[in-house]
Amino acid sequence: MLIHRATLLDGTAADIRVGARIEEVGQRLTPRRGEAVLDAGGAAVLPGLHDHHVHLRSAAQALDSLSVGPPTVRTKDQLTHALSHAVPGPDGWIRAVGYHESVAGELNRATLDAVLAHIPVRIQHRSGALWVLNSAALGRVGLPGHPDGRLRSADPWSDALQRRESDLAELSRRITATGVTGVTDATPDLDANDLVSLMMAHRSREFRPGVRLLAPGKKILHDDRLDLDALTAWIRDRHHLGQPVAVHCVTAAQLVVTIAALKDAGSHPLDRIEHAAVVPEDNLADLAELGVTVVTQPNFVAERGDQYLADVPAHEIDQLWRVASLRRAGVSVALSTDMPFGHGDPWAAMRAAVSRTTPSGVILNGAECVTPTAALTMFLGWPDRPDRPRTVEIGEPGDLCVLSEPPAVALAELDAALVAATVIRGELVYFAM
Ligand SMILES: [Zn+2]
Repeated sequence: MLIHRATLLDGTAADIRVGARIEEVGQRLTPRRGEAVLDAGGAAVLPGLHDHHVHLRSAAQALDSLSVGPPTVRTKDQLTHALSHAVPGPDGWIRAVGYHESVAGELNRATLDAVLAHIPVRIQHRSGALWVLNSAALGRVGLPGHPDGRLRSADPWSDALQRRESDLAELSRRITATGVTGVTDATPDLDANDLVSLMMAHRSREFRPGVRLLAPGKKILHDDRLDLDALTAWIRDRHHLGQPVAVHCVTAAQLVVTIAALKDAGSHPLDRIEHAAVVPEDNLADLAELGVTVVTQPNFVAERGDQYLADVPAHEIDQLWRVASLRRAGVSVALSTDMPFGHGDPWAAMRAAVSRTTPSGVILNGAECVTPTAALTMFLGWPDRPDRPRTVEIGEPGDLCVLSEPPAVALAELDAALVAATVIRGELVYFAM
């Protein structure tokens, strides 16, 4: 297809011919017979966004799940109300997501039974790593005798809970409407069935964005089971296979152990640290020296910032969701949303990276703010090189995001509502009417 009157991010006016790759970028290109033409009218045309850390199955499931965490649900009464008024899905289950202990403490099967005894209910913790089931639900999954109904993601039953018909097509529509043309699924331990079904969904055009999978090189750490030797050995094994690793670090302890393991095992140029939610000052230089890429989510500042201010010790606040200080230290950084655990709008994540404003309007770590151009560019990386931005040039992938405003306005607003069209491999997959 041909895109007329585009303005590139550097202000250059151009026409763009795009197929599976960008074929031509020039002045006044003439449409070929039968070629589709999109008139950008001088608005910005950028490489399609890539969300470098998402969980597709969970996101598709969350589309029809009830949200039972802040800000939607904040108190025990609100939780009881939400659950007792919920309409079960077609399979008779009530599925809720986003739970946090600030709502009603630690839940278990008894607390859920007191609200709903006969309908199977499962509540996912907002970390994504814990489910709580009531007795009816435990019976359905073959665990009627489970002591408290609190099931962790590492347990073998979790596959059965996760795998269920989900609407990847609807998720695809929502994602492409934000200008995203590719995603990296960071779910650890995806098995062969998951891989095949995601690839089939992509090939059958049910799910349009390109999909890159981090598993099996992805590892989640748990503070109560940190084992430096085991982690070092795992990293060494992966590297011997020529494969990079992606280690999920949400606490300072997890980061420190991961850095020690990488120093011992040696790093691979494509190694990644996911989240890096807490980075002590001392570790900035370590990360730069190791050459790892940090794939982080400043959107959590905008989504959960007030809770951090209430819960996190004052001296640790400036270590939260760093972006600018990582870049200043020479660490490669890419952004992502962690959808569905974070809100899946990359533009909201960019605004959070720029303003660092919590829901109540407090600025959290103003020294970590980045420019709008930097925030946008950190969503333009290659799937396998998140730190290297793609550009609108001949030979680059035919994945583009067409906005409705010129670059200066788009960068000032960073709003998904400005996405006018999304092109994947030369095909128009989203067009704002
Ligand atoms: Zn994640």
